[in-house]
Amino acid sequence: MTPVSYLRAGSAADALRLGAVQGHRLLGGGTNLVDLMRKGVEQPGVLVDVTGLPALIEEAADGSIVIGAAARNSSVAAHPLVRTRYPMLSRAILGGASAQIRNMATVGGNLLQRTRCLYFADAAGSRCNKREPGSGCDARGGFTRYHAILGASPACIATHPSDMAVALAALDARVHLASAEGVRTLSLLDLHRLPGDRPDLETVLAPGEMIVAIELPPSDVAARSIYRKVRDRASYAFALVSVAAGLALDGDRIVDVRIALGGVAAKPWRALRAEATLRGGPATAEAFARAAEVELAEAAPLPGNAFKVPLATRTMAAVLAQLSGEQA
Ligand code: SF4
Repeated sequence: MTPVSYLRAGSAADALRLGAVQGHRLLGGGTNLVDLMRKGVEQPGVLVDVTGLPALIEEAADGSIVIGAAARNSSVAAHPLVRTRYPMLSRAILGGASAQIRNMATVGGNLLQRTRCLYFADAAGSRCNKREPGSGCDARGGFTRYHAILGASPACIATHPSDMAVALAALDARVHLASAEGVRTLSLLDLHRLPGDRPDLETVLAPGEMIVAIELPPSDVAARSIYRKVRDRASYAFALVSVAAGLALDGDRIVDVRIALGGVAAKPWRALRAEATLRGGPATAEAFARAAEVELAEAAPLPGNAFKVPLATRTMAAVLAQLSGEQA
């Protein structure tokens, strides 16, 4: 392992000043970054520990919940405001990793974690456009069970590994970013990029910019919400497919709906087509199945992950049926 220096940021200003230096990386819980350093994928010269920065979870005047980027995943999942108002978020975090990892991992780090593509992690033996732009992609033609079926490109077919981010996408969460130029806020849906021809660019964060908080707006659908994760084994595996969904009904009519998919793309995949198909219509098993088919119509699977298309379709329909009390 390459020698690395360790600094602690005492404030956001400290973190911005130290983190903006080339070769420095911000360190949250380290549950992904340190793994990648051991594998030689990440080789920062200096780690700037930001776990001492604000980790508050509090209600704003407009009813939003604001969560500091240094908040531990376990604290978010267990917080009464999150558990009662945004149950899908709590469920997503609890399904995402072991208790030990949840106790270490931070909200900011969770959003910025890297893909678990096996070829990306194999710095010594595999070609990877994300790790080394222009080198190729050994996943294509390789083991693609965990790879993308939506939004992929010839350059990269990796998926984003976060469960938490999928729930945040469905909840219309906002991300607060800070840099030397000031603070800006964007939708979580706009934080991550699809790969295109630059899979090494994973987010819209500018150099020297950092996540300082996320914000959960009040939501009509969040109280009636579910996160369901389908994986190869019952505990602590990455999602083959996951669905975060919330539903607001008036009798058997759908007033509003939010759906996001995980395990299918390089970013949390908001199912906007399915939502548009459902909004204002009947809450029936047929409508849910039709909406799921509409969303997955543009899927472009590979032979090794073609099973994800019917799996995502059926899981989305089943989650919506469960929320509505219908039989799938
Ligand atoms: Fe790298 Fe993406 Fe190909 Fe995986 S799928 S090897 S991350 S370029």
